[in-house]
Amino acid sequence: MAALHDKFGRAITDLRISITDRCNYKCVYCRTGNEGALYGDLPFADYLRMARVLVGMGITKVRLTGGEPLLRNGVVQFVRELAKLRMPNGNGDGLDIALTTNGHLLADLAQPLKDAGLTRVTVSMDAVDPDLFARITRVPNGYDHVLAGIRAARRAGLWPVKVNCVLMRGFNEDQIIPFGMFAREEGVTVRFIEFMPLEEDRVWAPSTVVSLDEIRARMAEYRPLVEIPHVRSETARRYRFDDGVGEIGIIAPVSHPFCGHCSRIRITSDGKIRTCLFSVWDHDLYAQIRRGTSDEELEEFIRGVVAKKEERHHIGEPDFVPASRTMVHIGG
Ligand code: SAM
Repeated sequence: MAALHDKFGRAITDLRISITDRCNYKCVYCRTGNEGALYGDLPFADYLRMARVLVGMGITKVRLTGGEPLLRNGVVQFVRELAKLRMPNGNGDGLDIALTTNGHLLADLAQPLKDAGLTRVTVSMDAVDPDLFARITRVPNGYDHVLAGIRAARRAGLWPVKVNCVLMRGFNEDQIIPFGMFAREEGVTVRFIEFMPLEEDRVWAPSTVVSLDEIRARMAEYRPLVEIPHVRSETARRYRFDDGVGEIGIIAPVSHPFCGHCSRIRITSDGKIRTCLFSVWDHDLYAQIRRGTSDEELEEFIRGVVAKKEERHHIGEPDFVPASRTMVHIGG
């Protein structure tokens, strides 16, 4: 079977599935302080069918996200089912199965998820100062839960454990050096992410972005950084500290876009395909399933959708049109 490619020749190998758009955090760079309306979610059997068809078309990595994916009952069993899928490469290789979580419920779930077949985990954490963490997430006392989750993930052998920190000017740029120390002390890779215009509050402006150059310069005041050679398909620029202890990454979609190597498509919690975070429309895969479409017809639908994948985002340009959904309803 021909691998999945878009019209710009990019191979599509990474699938992100949002298994719920509910979230127990209300991070300032993502959500308003209110609950907000939900698109809802689907039975796991439907996501599993979508994943099975897509793996047959060349997907090799599946990342579960949300909303907050660990809020969803049955997530461990879903990982177990995903882990049974085999790539059609003749070797019977399993998938790389990853999870992005806020970590609040991870302490008790890390080992069961690992046992079910989860390969690795990324925990979002935007401050190492517990009070600031509470102000950003708008949840009191979350910090200790998340730290316990990160440590449980390491103990369970989920490797690597990555910690994602979105930097937003005026909130947490003073956390850059403390996160460098955190990476070294906790044995995790901390990745700073430039703030993107995907938030519900529409507060993004170029001046709110803490850029790659600024992050690197600030961290170098703490300890010299050595750049790890960049693999084109990687989203993050990677650096280690000069003494070899600790690694950080910087994901810079605003100042250094990497759309040219994008290998991702996303399925939203309500079963729509999105070909770009910044898509202004999505494609209703679940509607195809509801009307009794065969696997072959689903493949044809997916190929047609992927062919329309956007060349790049237009963040910060005069012709930028906001995405049709915010991050919590897309699945980052
Ligand atoms: N609840 C999970 C979590 O907290 O990781 C998964 C969903 S969350 C939407 C996925 C990722 O998107 C997180 O790492 C979060 O920090 C990131 N994110 C959310 N809004 C963002 C924005 N406006 N710009 C950049 N990253 C954002």
